[in-house]
Amino acid sequence: MTARILVVDDVEPNVRLLEAKLTAEYFEVLAAFDGMTALDIAASEGPDIILLDVMMPGMDGLETCRRLKADPATRHIPVILVTALDGRRDRLSGLEAGADDFLSKPIDDIALFARVKSLVRMKLVIDELRQREASGRRMGVIEGAAARMSGSGGLIIAAEDHEGQAELIKDQLKGEHRIVVESHPDQALLSVRRRADLLFVNAASTNFDALRLVAQVRSDEATRHLPIIAAVEASDRQRMVKALELGVNDVLVRPIDPEELSARVRTLIRQKRYYDFLRNNLDQSLELAVTDPLTGLHNRRYMSSQLTAMVRRAAQGGEPVSALLVDIDHFKRINDTFGHAVGDDVLREFAIRLATNVRAIDLACRYGGEEFVVIMPDTKLADAHVIAERLRRHVAGSPFKVSDVDDALSVTISVGVSVTSGPADTAQALLKRADDAVYEAKAGGRNMVILNAA
Ligand code: GH3
Ligand code: MG
Ligand code: MG
Repeated sequence: MTARILVVDDVEPNVRLLEAKLTAEYFEVLAAFDGMTALDIAASEGPDIILLDVMMPGMDGLETCRRLKADPATRHIPVILVTALDGRRDRLSGLEAGADDFLSKPIDDIALFARVKSLVRMKLVIDELRQREASGRRMGVIEGAAARMSGSGGLIIAAEDHEGQAELIKDQLKGEHRIVVESHPDQALLSVRRRADLLFVNAASTNFDALRLVAQVRSDEATRHLPIIAAVEASDRQRMVKALELGVNDVLVRPIDPEELSARVRTLIRQKRYYDFLRNNLDQSLELAVTDPLTGLHNRRYMSSQLTAMVRRAAQGGEPVSALLVDIDHFKRINDTFGHAVGDDVLREFAIRLATNVRAIDLACRYGGEEFVVIMPDTKLADAHVIAERLRRHVAGSPFKVSDVDDALSVTISVGVSVTSGPADTAQALLKRADDAVYEAKAGGRNMVILNAA
């Protein structure tokens, strides 16, 4: 993992020390010696992480952080505040200023690399999401909404078997969040899978293996991005390192400072909501990119993207893939007789019949105009033939009722069927064979299915 890290500190030897440590681990280091320069570099260079000293003359680290987080161009860059060892107030104000994490001086190497790596991982995901969104004009709207995202009102699952500790945590957080205490890790895992905004684990527990729970949460697709805070004993460095390695977002040392706990919880929940928000928006835009707006079927682009990989697998000895190419007969006449709107209605009705007459694993898509394609994984030509014939009969056998036309319209289709063949087969060739079969069906009088066995 490599990343560009901006180190900001007014004391040059501090910058050089961090630079040496980070460069040794193959990180690329940018340096700034005051807040103003840091803002400039952050905006122009777009580093992956900013390590920011709190105590600086002029604009201090807190104000620099606040400005970084207020600017849509730099808001998404994780900031690690570097504070004095006794800088409790700084840490709390730092989290309020929007810092993503903090480290105390003198900086401990293990803590430094664990934090940097965990934030780089998060940044990679967010970058990917932002990149896909960036082309759209909606990024501004998204950033605006993200800025107002709150870190309160979360659902927190606390895996804690010590009753007294559980009560403490509850008291500290219940003013702002809903807390569910689970004394057994299996139960905690179930709760987390159901729904949660954050998991708190007692990593010091001697009754259950909290780190195993962390690993389980991290390996599950549904909970992979859930923020996790682990509580450890100050003396147990090994466990602290292990927890961070496993992907815990924060480690708190007992006795837990209530203010620090609530500030960290709020920050992590806000981050999670930002992340979820980006992801939901991305899903919507992906939805638009893969579906045909008229019929709601998959579009040609999506189908092609899937088909290439499917045909490759079949060509390498996998199960055969069949393709149906369906063309509505004399569709132009429907448009010419009843108008384009009626034509659209017929296409929509046909799409419904198509989608409901193929199997769930089959991929039905609008190929263009009045042409449709169905991709059937793991299907031999003879089976595809049966499905094509059933579809043809269903279309020809029951006329289409559309609004604004009194009599139901009689519609027929011509279908070409092909199947993957040989190690050199391609998606394009498969579709071409189906297309040739459609041509034959048209020539043969329409309303028929033709197989092309290649
Ligand atoms: P054939 O039996 O040989 O397939 O004849 P056809 O009339 O179906 O084929 P042709 O390719 O000549 O015409 C297809 C028509 O489909 C022409 C085009 O205007 C119409 N069409 C394409 N897309 C749409 C659409 O989205 N809505 C409507 N209403 N018509 C469309
Ligand atoms: Mg056509
Ligand atoms: Mg046609």
